Amino acid sequence: MRDYECARHEMVERQLARRGIKDARVLSAMRQVPREAFVAEGFEEFAYEDAALPIAEGQTISQPFIVARMAEAAELERVNNVLEVGVGSGYTSAVLSHLTSRVSAIERHAALAKKAMERLSALGRNNVEIRTGDGTKGWPAKAPFDAIIVSAAGPTIPMALKEQLAIGGRLVIPVGHENGPQRLLRIKRIDDNRYDAEDLGGVMFVPLIGDEGAQRPQSSG
Ligand code: SAM
Repeated sequence: MRDYECARHEMVERQLARRGIKDARVLSAMRQVPREAFVAEGFEEFAYEDAALPIAEGQTISQPFIVARMAEAAELERVNNVLEVGVGSGYTSAVLSHLTSRVSAIERHAALAKKAMERLSALGRNNVEIRTGDGTKGWPAKAPFDAIIVSAAGPTIPMALKEQLAIGGRLVIPVGHENGPQRLLRIKRIDDNRYDAEDLGGVMFVPLIGDEGAQRPQSSG
């Protein structure tokens, strides 16, 4: 247990702080979430390596640096209501739960959503609500969101997500094709009709599959 704690503190120092993550709240949140509780069974010893790791349903738990980068880019100071699209293991939702009062999160695979909810409950993260569905449509009943983080890459920015941002809100989303170049974008809502876009650099994510995402493969549900 103590070894994991040491590894976690070292990860935050080496992989995050030294590589430019400056937001003290984000660094503190990353120090508090036990990543070993979110990796697939048998992968615990790799939990603090600088890498995404495989989880069920052919998906991945995001690389810690990317989680921190996205959380920092979302500017989560004094925010109440955050949406995550693409829950996967639940790790990013757990980090976000330390940075805002409420996290709503959507995962298209029911089995992943269920397992993520179990992990978050076991850790007492009671401010996260997860549902199964197509996150490209957002979660209208919970909107408007101060920030939206999308943990999978689609070919375009889903209109529903832009519309569910509060004025002044931030949408952090990778855009691009599977196995092709992807860019991490931060979209800020200026007013009802105007948005600013910033390119935060190249990334690599699994595809965002849905009505406003990549096409659904024939074989998956
Ligand atoms: N942030 C997650 C973590 O820390 O474990 C990693 C998520 S993984 C890179 C991306 C997830 O997005 C996958 O679990 C995938 O099933 C999910 N996903 C893809 N398209 C989706 C959609 N339209 N709605 C909701 N989830 C989606």
